Amino acid sequence: MAVTRDTPLTDFPGVGEARAKKLEKLGLSKAGDLLAWYPRDYEDRRKVYSIQDAPAEGRVCVSAVAAEHPRLSRIRKGLELVQVKVVDHTAALHLTFFNQGYVERAIRAGEEYIFYGAVEVQGRRRTMVNPIFERAGKQSFTGCIMPVYRLTAGISNHLLASLARQALPCAEGMPETLPQHIRQAHRLAAAEFAVKNIHFPEDEGALDLARRRLAFEELFYLAVGLSFLKDRRDRAGTGVSIPPRPKEEFLSLLPFVPTGAQSRVMDEVASDMASGRPMNRLVQGDVGSGKTAVAACAGWLCARGGHQGALMAPTEVLAEQHYRSLSQLLAPAGVRVGLLTGSMKAAEKKKTRTALAEGEIDFVVGTHALISEGVAFRSLALIVADEQHRFGVAQRAALAAKSGEGTVPHVLVMSATPIPRTLALIIYGDLDVSVIDQLPPGRTPISTYVVREDKRQRMYGFVRKQVREGRQAYIICPAVEENPDAALPGEESPALNLKAVKTYAETLQKEVFPDLRVGILHGKMKPREKEAAMAAFAGGETQVLVATTVVEVGVDVPNASIIIIENADRFGLSQLHQLRGRVGRGKHQSHCVLITGTRSLEAMERLHTLASTTDGFKISEEDLKARGPGDFFGNRQHGLPQMKLADLAGDMRLFSEAQEAARSLLEQDPQLSAPENRPVWERVRRLFADTPDIFN
Ligand code: ADP
Ligand code: MG
Repeated sequence: MAVTRDTPLTDFPGVGEARAKKLEKLGLSKAGDLLAWYPRDYEDRRKVYSIQDAPAEGRVCVSAVAAEHPRLSRIRKGLELVQVKVVDHTAALHLTFFNQGYVERAIRAGEEYIFYGAVEVQGRRRTMVNPIFERAGKQSFTGCIMPVYRLTAGISNHLLASLARQALPCAEGMPETLPQHIRQAHRLAAAEFAVKNIHFPEDEGALDLARRRLAFEELFYLAVGLSFLKDRRDRAGTGVSIPPRPKEEFLSLLPFVPTGAQSRVMDEVASDMASGRPMNRLVQGDVGSGKTAVAACAGWLCARGGHQGALMAPTEVLAEQHYRSLSQLLAPAGVRVGLLTGSMKAAEKKKTRTALAEGEIDFVVGTHALISEGVAFRSLALIVADEQHRFGVAQRAALAAKSGEGTVPHVLVMSATPIPRTLALIIYGDLDVSVIDQLPPGRTPISTYVVREDKRQRMYGFVRKQVREGRQAYIICPAVEENPDAALPGEESPALNLKAVKTYAETLQKEVFPDLRVGILHGKMKPREKEAAMAAFAGGETQVLVATTVVEVGVDVPNASIIIIENADRFGLSQLHQLRGRVGRGKHQSHCVLITGTRSLEAMERLHTLASTTDGFKISEEDLKARGPGDFFGNRQHGLPQMKLADLAGDMRLFSEAQEAARSLLEQDPQLSAPENRPVWERVRRLFADTPDIFN
């Protein structure tokens, strides 16, 4: 079969309709797709052992001769067993194959094979179960570095590897996608070499070269795309100049005196907005550092300057809370605050939209619906993104394109998750960073305890004691995410254990706290119910709130002094830190109880790390180390195109190289119109397929 990049996978032997469908799930339908389906890992199968020397640890290759004809037996219905003894000059090895009847015919006495599997030693007897095997001298998946691919149900790694191997010839003479001078300047391998060796590397050196070339390429397209986006934003216009006002005016609205750090950041924001250049500022501050006051100050300035502002929150619960507290805070100054969330009634939404278009709302609080539903503003001058990394360069560019009139809104991103600065630059572009590195005074540090099931009753007793003293408690149950990609941070996927949350709340109410009022809050409740549940807790009508992670970010009830986190080992460290941040917001000594049944030492260690520090920066560093940036930022929360090989936080040096290359290329050919640069243009367009009109 002569394979070209367009050969459909159904032309490959062994791929019928059913398999083709499954492969399509992975986005694989042509030979060319296979080549772009890079392995996620490798198995070193290069060393071939004698039976005697084969280590009984991990899977290894062993070379041996079949000493007999394989014996097939049917143990019971549906269970076939093939057994065969193989030997070399050092020892014998007993192989067993389950439900692979064909092995009886595939292995012939007297022939030599390479077997790949785990050797087990029982006394003097060596065995191997279900090894992969190939005739010696005709090997393709033994004696080599074996690629390990991402799979889907019904598609084995072996199948994918064998398809990739068959598709490999079409990498021959494949067109180069990077301009020659860039490859030379950055010492990058040729496309053909890179693709061949990313799948079937000759050795570690070749794999490194291949990986470097392909990761560079991804980062290069990313850098080119970001540069186009940034350009578009710069061209989109100037920011609205918001005149400064005496700060005392705002401070007189606040129920507290701002910390030095808050005050400094408010000044920075005010001077950004007055400058006439669009503000582009990230405010980082640990949980409870008081970021909301900064947002309120920006919204107030904007409204007093005669323009509109919008605050986007990651969850409806948080949007509603911000709506309540901002209305209360800003109403005395005549600022009209509105609310817009995805699940509001159509009529209510319409009312809010009309008010926004007419300029009857000064500061609107909402979820992502705010930008996605094509809301029109009379004069939008400020966007505050609270607790979301999603609001990156791409989102802003889209928004700037929409706002028209030659002006670009000021942007303020607020985050409690410390982002390494370099990564922040990639995600947010040329942003300024403010840090609120001070907590409001009078906070007593939260005590954190890691406890086992046997302390459960004592823990409930502790909750009761706190409530008797007038405090309130959160009890958090994890939401099981079936498909983590489907959910945004703070949102929940159709939670499997939703019923568990409900039944748990009922049990607590009936059997544990019959004398207390237990509330419940989860993502699948109607907005009105959520709002009511939150209001009841905030107002002290319920004393115990059983909730899922919907309360993870931003929720603020200062009287709550204890938070219990069930199955704590299921959460990431940063997430636990966020959850813990729900308490310790008032003047009362606060407590966080992490309850776990885990047997993993590693998980226990993580929980103890959390118990030993309240420094958010330190915690997220640990988290970053343990989980890697992919997980840390979760499913594309940063809103950037997905990288296949490059690791946004790990390949920082490579990224600056790629950025340098992008800069010099765009200097020579700003529109990428030269024929030799068309492949770059094409790849960038594909990478940013989700961002409309990247080249406009
Ligand atoms: P976060 O940075 O986590 O968003 P919030 O803005 O929700 O923090 O503030 C946490 C709590 O601290 C709120 O109850 C808020 O009213 C209170 N707070 C904020 N700043 C101060 C301050 N300077 N003095 C006293 N309390 C403050
Ligand atoms: Mg907040």
